[in-house]
Amino acid sequence: MTIRYNVQLQPYNSFRTRATARIFCEPQTAGELSEAIRTFSNEQKLVLGAGFNLFFTRDFDGVIIKPGMRGITTITENEEYVDIEAGAGEEWDHFVGFCVSHGYAGLENLSLIPSSVGASPIQNIGAYGTEVKDTIILVKAVDIYSGELREFTSAECDFGYRDSIFKRTGRYVITSVVFRLGKTFVYKEKYVDLSRELEGVVAPTITQVRDAIIRIRTRKLPDFNLLPNAGSFFKNPMLTTDEKDALQKILPDAPVYNVGDDGFKTSAAFLIEKAGYKGKRKGMVGTYERHALIIVNYGTENGQEIAAFMEDIQQEVKKQFGILLEPEVWIF
Ligand SMILES: Cc1cc2nc3c(=O)[nH]c(=O)nc-3n(C[C@H](O)[C@H](O)[C@H](O)COP(=O)(O)OP(=O)(O)OC[C@H]3O[C@@H](n4cnc5c(N)ncnc54)[C@H](O)[C@@H]3O)c2cc1C
Repeated sequence: MTIRYNVQLQPYNSFRTRATARIFCEPQTAGELSEAIRTFSNEQKLVLGAGFNLFFTRDFDGVIIKPGMRGITTITENEEYVDIEAGAGEEWDHFVGFCVSHGYAGLENLSLIPSSVGASPIQNIGAYGTEVKDTIILVKAVDIYSGELREFTSAECDFGYRDSIFKRTGRYVITSVVFRLGKTFVYKEKYVDLSRELEGVVAPTITQVRDAIIRIRTRKLPDFNLLPNAGSFFKNPMLTTDEKDALQKILPDAPVYNVGDDGFKTSAAFLIEKAGYKGKRKGMVGTYERHALIIVNYGTENGQEIAAFMEDIQQEVKKQFGILLEPEVWIF
């Protein structure tokens, strides 16, 4: 395993902020990962996937571990389903493309999400009415403290909305994920944007669904190569009944969705827009003009500028609507 020192992290985060890591290693197997963890037992550690959901505000005085495990392997299959294991270092959309091209159903709605396979369970990535938890049957990982191998069934992953045990504990480095995918595909209308895109297509095929999602995402989201960003910056806030009532007094047209007994969710993008922050720019940072939830970097290399802009939005939304927006993006 190659270990590098004083590595510039700008190419490794999609906001393209500058920071240096004192130590950087890219284990290719679970064994190499355990070895790295034991070698650097006294160092502070940070796991890095493809860097699409994090950015750096300062140098990292420790070891960055970037899991590089590759491979897409069929574990078992029958007439109904196939179990496929993919290495943490595989590019997510390459994996989704592979599954769709074989007619394996379940991940097509998650097409074009920028991610590594290993990061997909961390925040239980989701889009177009689908969450990755619905297809995951096993996650293989290494304990970041002991270097020991561990496996998690789907129930043990304790998935939630943009959440999992991995996110909550920060204790496990994922080395591979096993997915159970269907062998028959039946299109189910779940999402209005997608239905619109597929209007006139009778019984869309899995490939048509993937292509439609790629078209929608390409139209809607800024290209991170031209306008560095990390996708949705904030989570949609969860509200209690009292909080929901209070919000609707100030903003009667606020979208509110029921999630469980005493739980509601509202739209962070809506709140940001109502707070006057859609398309707003401060220095080299701003929100995307077509999507208030996306903070874009117009040319700074300093992550602190992005963090300061994030705080401006949080303060304004809190002041106007009494709701604290929580970042979905990791800030280091
Ligand atoms: C343009 C754009 C659009 C996006 N759209 C969506 C969307 O539709 N839905 C959605 O859910 N997300 C979306 N995101 C967010 C992003 O795609 C996901 O969070 C993705 O899973 C990040 O993957 P990554 O490999 O880049 O992880 P990173 O950003 O590198 O890491 C994210 C977190 O996971 C941890 N981590 C990474 N790999 C591992 C591992 N192997 N083991 C343990 N911990 C690990 C890191 O420590 C960090 O805490 C979008 C981002 C962008 C830039």
